[in-house]
Amino acid sequence: MKVIMLGAPGAGKGTQAKKIAAKYQIPHISTGDIFRANIKNGTELGKKAKTYMDQGLLVPDELVVDLVVDRLNQEDCKNGCVLDGFPRTIPQAEALDKALKSLGQKVDYAVNVEVPDENIVTRMGGRRACVGCGATYHLVYAPTKEEGICDTCGGGLILRDDDKPETVTKRLNVYHEQTQPLIDYYAQAGILKEVDGTKDIEDVFREITGILGE
Ligand code: ADP
Ligand code: ADP
Ligand code: ZN
Repeated sequence: MKVIMLGAPGAGKGTQAKKIAAKYQIPHISTGDIFRANIKNGTELGKKAKTYMDQGLLVPDELVVDLVVDRLNQEDCKNGCVLDGFPRTIPQAEALDKALKSLGQKVDYAVNVEVPDENIVTRMGGRRACVGCGATYHLVYAPTKEEGICDTCGGGLILRDDDKPETVTKRLNVYHEQTQPLIDYYAQAGILKEVDGTKDIEDVFREITGILGE
């Protein structure tokens, strides 16, 4: 089963993708996480990506596509995967279709997590990321057991630079211009599934498992 997650930054794609990966035993592939790991490790790719990410802009397609295609060719993706944060542009979606086709596969579901822009700003302001393992929390909606400390690895929590309000507004504009057209793209392909992302985390997940099956 190949699933892609669509939705604005902060809609809850990563939160739901992790739950999908655990339930259906498929890898969770987050391009944002891959870039952040590259930045942390000081790679050339990380250096290039950072200049765009810091400005709230998308990393150019040519830096993203090969990375995802390589990942999809790995053994553990044979039975499926959940893609989170990719594709984000029409050319990325076309490249994904082409790559999957050559593997004799296709995207099965495009799950659009719908959250209005007004809610996004609160979501992002309260999002906290672990510096150790990258796990994501929310001060109010998904708090850690102990304040400021990651439940999984004990690392410290930070507000991502690109989650500051100025950059969030920019990212929302970029989303509407470059990523939202994917909703029509997958609707035309007949695989678009919409879920109400304003509900709480478990309710959103129930809607998703209703679509993907038990
Ligand atoms: P969020 O989960 O808040 O939507 P991500 O972690 O997915 O954010 O992405 C963070 C940043 O990484 C994006 O703002 C963008 O700069 C870059 N990025 C991630 N995935 C892609 C992609 N598929 N294409 C271009 N840029 C990307
Ligand atoms: P995305 O990957 O789409 O950028 P995240 O999964 O990182 O979004 O979620 C953004 C923030 O909102 C995180 O702090 C997360 O804990 C929180 N969050 C996710 N889903 C919900 C929800 N259904 N209700 C309230 N907060 C949520
Ligand atoms: Zn951690």
